[in-house]
Amino acid sequence: MWLESTRRRAPAVRFTDALAAGPAPDGGLYLPVTWPRLDRADLEVWRGRPFADVAAALAERWLGDELGPEVAGGLVREALDFPVPVVSLDGRHAVLELFHGPTLAFKDVGARVLARLLGHVAAASGRRATVLVATSGDTGGAVAHGFHRVPGVTVVVLYPAGRISRFQEAQIASLGDNIVALRVPGTFDDCQRLVKTAFQDETLRGLNLASANSINIGRLLPQVFYYVAAYVAVAEPIGRPVVFAVPSGNLGNLTAGVLAQRMGLPVARFVAAVNANAVLAEYLETGRYCPRAAVPTMSNAMDVGDPSNFERLLALHGGALEAMRRCLWSRSISEAETGACLRRVYERTGYLFDPHGAVGYAAAEQYAAEAAGDEPIVTLATAHPAKFAEAVGAHTGVVPELPDRFRGWERWPLSAEDLPDATYATFRRVLAAQVGAPA
Ligand SMILES: *Cc1c(COP(=O)(O)O)cnc(C)c1O
Repeated sequence: MWLESTRRRAPAVRFTDALAAGPAPDGGLYLPVTWPRLDRADLEVWRGRPFADVAAALAERWLGDELGPEVAGGLVREALDFPVPVVSLDGRHAVLELFHGPTLAFKDVGARVLARLLGHVAAASGRRATVLVATSGDTGGAVAHGFHRVPGVTVVVLYPAGRISRFQEAQIASLGDNIVALRVPGTFDDCQRLVKTAFQDETLRGLNLASANSINIGRLLPQVFYYVAAYVAVAEPIGRPVVFAVPSGNLGNLTAGVLAQRMGLPVARFVAAVNANAVLAEYLETGRYCPRAAVPTMSNAMDVGDPSNFERLLALHGGALEAMRRCLWSRSISEAETGACLRRVYERTGYLFDPHGAVGYAAAEQYAAEAAGDEPIVTLATAHPAKFAEAVGAHTGVVPELPDRFRGWERWPLSAEDLPDATYATFRRVLAAQVGAPA
């Protein structure tokens, strides 16, 4: 599979070369040049099959030329060993639950597939890779779990001390083995600065530094799989268009949906659900893109003021606002509406969303009330409600519980190293000690 930069001033690259890259050399982001077509017969065959089967079949078509079909399918099957059920809610509405992976967030899907792909490339080249990732909470856990015990790759996670939840810290720092957890005395921005500086540090070349952030195409592509799986679960008959409502922050999930649509998946429209951080909704309304600092909300993984995948969405529509409006319908959901939605859905159906899913569903309800058409609407539930037990409890009166495998997480032994300060020299020294960089 070949990829091209959104800015078209860099050479096209193969998927395996773009896998761990950040932006393209021209500053743009990679997008597939061509992709496999899905036709009705494919979709008919996949109806009723387990998620891993659908994902493996897509990976074989997509990556088979570079990795061999069996390797491509096998890696994806191994990575996606958890269910992504579609739950019927009421009337037109269904929920795609993407939170049954190891860290209870949809980021597990992309992170786990990326981990196995990178591990495969490292093994094939005989060169150990080092993944550096800065996190404000959820990404670090998903990446750490995704890569845990993947041979040939060491992962270094930097997180701001005292600024992520205890549960998030436990998910990052309890693993050990090839996962190195570094607590940084500072903010998420400090963590990100250290990682960015390391990527520019020529003396670290030998570490084969790889990124695992959300602009990485290796995290984006696997997200296409679940749109296809959800489609075949709800479309009646196959071929009938469906609407997807996507709780959005950096717009990676939404971009993956648009890619699925370009492959031929019959999607009538995407409901791009955002919280108070509404730059996308504003852009679609006014044609002006005004990035700004994020404001905090209860759906905090969507608190993004300058979404990094906006450039991809724009490129996929040739920069044309009207084309984007035909594809995307966006709505900003306030904190009050999010809370009211959590409560209303619980009282009406007994279903517990988390705040991110509630933003998605609130926007889906508004779409159903305002837009023409009667297609089924699938809301993507991106996090387990128990990850946000406090907010969910406050609005519904029910405190959701973590699945059994997390019992006793408060007592999991943690092994994080504290950086004495947030300077690059200190980070460089600790990195050298941890992963054997040249001193
Ligand atoms: C990251 C995240 C999002 C936002 O996804 P994007 O791809 O960045 O738009 C939504 N919900 C949850 C729970 C997340 O962790």
